[in-house]
Amino acid sequence: MARSKDALVAGSVQSRAEPGELTPVMLQYLSIKEEHKDEVLFFRLGDFYEMFNQDAIEVSRLLNLTLTHRGAAPMCGIPFHAAKIYIARLLRCGKRIAICEQIGDPKAKGLTERKVIEIITPGTALESEYLDGGANNFLACLCLQKGRAGFAYLDVTTSDFFATSWYESDMEENFSKEIGRCHPRELLLPQSLEKNEIVQNTLLQNEEIAVSYYPDWNFDQSLSYKRLLAQFKTVNLQGFSLDEKSPEVAPAGFLLDYLQKTATTNAPHVTGIKVYRDSQFVIMDDSSRRNLEIVENLRDGSSQFSLLECLSHTETAMGKRLLRSWLLYPLTNVEEIRGRQNHVELFVKNRNLLEFVHELFGNILDIERLAGRVAMERAHAKDVQALRASLENWLKVREQLDSCGFTHTEKNLAEQIVALIKNAILEDPATALGEGRIIKEGWSAELDEYRRIHDNVNKILDDYAEEEKAATGIQNLRIRSNSLTGYYIEITRGKSEQVPAHFILRRALTNADRYTTVRLQEIEKQIGEAELKITETEKALFLELRSKIAEHTNYLLQTAKEIAYADVTSSLAYAALLHGWVKPFVDNSKDFIIKGGRHPVVELHLPSGEFVPNDIEISAEKESKSAYFALITGPNMAGKSTYLRQNALIALLAQIGSFVPAKEAHIGAVDRIFCRVGASDNLARGESTFLVEMTETAYILRTATEKSFVIMDEVGRGTSTEDGLSIAWAVSEYLLNALKCKTLFATHYHELTRLDHPSLKLLCMEVSEEADKITFLRKIKEGASENSYGIHVASLAGLPQSVIRRANEILNTLQKGADSAVSENAGSLQTLQTSAEEKPLEKSVSMPGLFSDEELVLDEILSCDPDDMTPRQALDLVARWKKSLSGR
Ligand code: ADP
Repeated sequence: MARSKDALVAGSVQSRAEPGELTPVMLQYLSIKEEHKDEVLFFRLGDFYEMFNQDAIEVSRLLNLTLTHRGAAPMCGIPFHAAKIYIARLLRCGKRIAICEQIGDPKAKGLTERKVIEIITPGTALESEYLDGGANNFLACLCLQKGRAGFAYLDVTTSDFFATSWYESDMEENFSKEIGRCHPRELLLPQSLEKNEIVQNTLLQNEEIAVSYYPDWNFDQSLSYKRLLAQFKTVNLQGFSLDEKSPEVAPAGFLLDYLQKTATTNAPHVTGIKVYRDSQFVIMDDSSRRNLEIVENLRDGSSQFSLLECLSHTETAMGKRLLRSWLLYPLTNVEEIRGRQNHVELFVKNRNLLEFVHELFGNILDIERLAGRVAMERAHAKDVQALRASLENWLKVREQLDSCGFTHTEKNLAEQIVALIKNAILEDPATALGEGRIIKEGWSAELDEYRRIHDNVNKILDDYAEEEKAATGIQNLRIRSNSLTGYYIEITRGKSEQVPAHFILRRALTNADRYTTVRLQEIEKQIGEAELKITETEKALFLELRSKIAEHTNYLLQTAKEIAYADVTSSLAYAALLHGWVKPFVDNSKDFIIKGGRHPVVELHLPSGEFVPNDIEISAEKESKSAYFALITGPNMAGKSTYLRQNALIALLAQIGSFVPAKEAHIGAVDRIFCRVGASDNLARGESTFLVEMTETAYILRTATEKSFVIMDEVGRGTSTEDGLSIAWAVSEYLLNALKCKTLFATHYHELTRLDHPSLKLLCMEVSEEADKITFLRKIKEGASENSYGIHVASLAGLPQSVIRRANEILNTLQKGADSAVSENAGSLQTLQTSAEEKPLEKSVSMPGLFSDEELVLDEILSCDPDDMTPRQALDLVARWKKSLSGR
């Protein structure tokens, strides 16, 4: 592989240059880099893209490349033909890349001219190598104006363009929620937000997003409005629920501007924007979504062990993206939910149809992104053929689905596009223009003629030779060629008199003469031009065909949506049949009644039949006899969290239109799902686990409504027993008295079961104790749990038997003390039942410790092993004991 001539020039200049003096090529590099400070500059030198200075240091670290030096400058390089792999990796690291090519003739004298021809950024990348087929590639923008925040995001590869807004005062919950669900690859912000604490905190949690800041004047409302009008070719934006003052306008307009300036495309296929309000979808804050592990697990962020995994039977990339978006945006409108359910049911009831479409979907490529490539003039002939094959398969699927309300587009148009491509493009065309053949024979008479000439040079020359032989009677007349003269007619000297007048003598040799004719010159010209003409004509014809297809971009995008919808509904049907799920009855009530409910993910990963199904019946309807608040107690590992989550997931599944893992389900559509489970550490933000726990709890109490579904697991666990119990108690009361929403509240504080409220029911996880053998039955039953069995779990986890024995001893002692402490304080806990509006929590609980400091010290002395201690440890212990008893 060759480094460029410039590299050699530079090398020689370098050798003559004074130390520290820059070579011309380095000067050229520096001047281009000056204009592209925010990008990694891929500087083309021969067969390599080279990076220098800071770019080289950073890229060599990120991509694990060898760092070398050119003079004093650090340098690293990648072969140009492998660039896409490296670019893809840099984009994943959130980098922007400027591609600087040699545009002058590399063989010309002097320094080759170079220019940045393309800027690739994570949110504007168009090539499939840079994209994740199953997820949208969003570029997002947030602006604040007059107390309102506008948020817009666009996937230019699919034309999905969304916007929403909220009051600045709701910034904290809304920004992280929106970022969490659309998960943009790149975010554009006004400089004024560089110091906004809420924005910066959210970004800290989402470090993989590439963020860039622009002066605030860029986000101009009226220019943006005009920009959107021009893009959508409308006179106003009423059709998109926007006007001149809408907060969504500035960020949406800026996105289009950025796209044009950066990716140099004005994305003609982006012809509209969907503005949505929170009320259209089930609201879920970022942490609830993470806790429920909907599209990714908490452990490594992959989709393994997530709800998405159970449902992932989609076959097309469009279906994969739509399924993801359904899971992130569950519906609140019952009619819409039922519409989806009916389509899922149609497939469930007709397995032949399900299998038929499932199989054909496997042969449908990403029509959405292909249509985008066509519209942006990026599609090559193979893309166009892929579009054709996919449309053909879709037409077969359509035949079966057209009568069932899946399709609304014209079928004829798809047939016409298929026919057009079929007639014009070869089955297996070359990718790049000029690399081989693309257009079919018979499509263009002109092209066919050039090909005839190109493919039949010998025959054409033979025919002409025969013609002249017949006309002149010279039988040994030959047409030959050489590189110097080109084609010529050779006639031996003996036949010289028979040579006609139109033969022009080119060269006289000893035994023969060489002639040409006007006709031969013409033939020679045609042969010489044929190859070039073929390439040029093919190019013109292909571009013409591509722009003909581009006229139907909207239709193709609409078709892609129909395919995605049919793929997702059939995939949900597939999951329902595979896992034995049922169609839930969804209405506008506030009921939540599940018989035989299961956790879809836990069940999937347990051996078949091992998951124990559980029921639930709660209702926030005023006249309902059911409670709306279930307090669930039970030992650790008994299955409380699983039970809580499974019910939240069932609600969510029902509201995306899916069947649910249960025997029977009646679900009143919920407006919000909150899930406060476990204690997630947020040390990166500098917040303690407990602070995070309380922040999330506060958010729930502030925003839940009567139509919400709240699951809370072990609230208050992050602090001392007394604090924790008091908080759990007060939170429960607030939920019961003020919010009155459906709540599942799991706790290990047995004292909470003393809460008394008509809308509260006690549930617990059943445990069987037989002859010293404890078994968690994972079955929910009415009532309160009696024991926490923590020591049993510790023993299962393999703690030494001596420790287990000792723990049992301590437990017995503690239980005696605790029983008396709790009975003494039951009265004071009852006083916590204040009305929720009052919420006076601070001093109302004063629980004494369950055991005294002396008891604690005594326990520690008894359990420590002096033989297994260094003198220093022993000294520390004595100091600690002294400190804890010194207050007495
Ligand atoms: P807890 O919250 O009470 O500590 P978990 O919900 O974390 O308990 O459950 C502990 C384990 O028990 C889970 O990892 C799961 O494997 C198993 N489990 C929970 N519920 C069930 C069930 N209904 N059927 C079968 N196994 C279950």
